Amino acid sequence: MHEYSVVSELISALLPKLDDHPGRVSAVILVKGELRILSDTSLQNAFELLAQETRLEGAELVIEPVEVRVRCRSCGFEGSPEHVREESFHFAIPILSCPTCGAEVDIEAGRELYVDRVTIQTEATADGL
Ligand SMILES: [Zn+2]
Repeated sequence: MHEYSVVSELISALLPKLDDHPGRVSAVILVKGELRILSDTSLQNAFELLAQETRLEGAELVIEPVEVRVRCRSCGFEGSPEHVREESFHFAIPILSCPTCGAEVDIEAGRELYVDRVTIQTEATADGL
């Protein structure tokens, strides 16, 4: 299960950063580009499992999706490649091309995968990190 190893790496990277921040971690906000073929449900299940007996136990994994945005090398089009919305998208590696001229495109957004922030609740206040 790919999601499991992805979440494992994210948690390993995140835990040391929390050392200086006491309090209960209530949410971990994960930014995920649409080009990442990862199931939100599987990510959340993996998180719940891997967070056990760490500072992250009981925290909610909140996934913020990032839409795919491309820029055409030929005509300068900027926006979403049309076929990303097709249902078959999740079952194949998408080949992205310009919706207006069909040329090759550069991906500007949609490959993100990182923990953007966590929410920590202290006794006095809820604070972002
Ligand atoms: Zn184009």
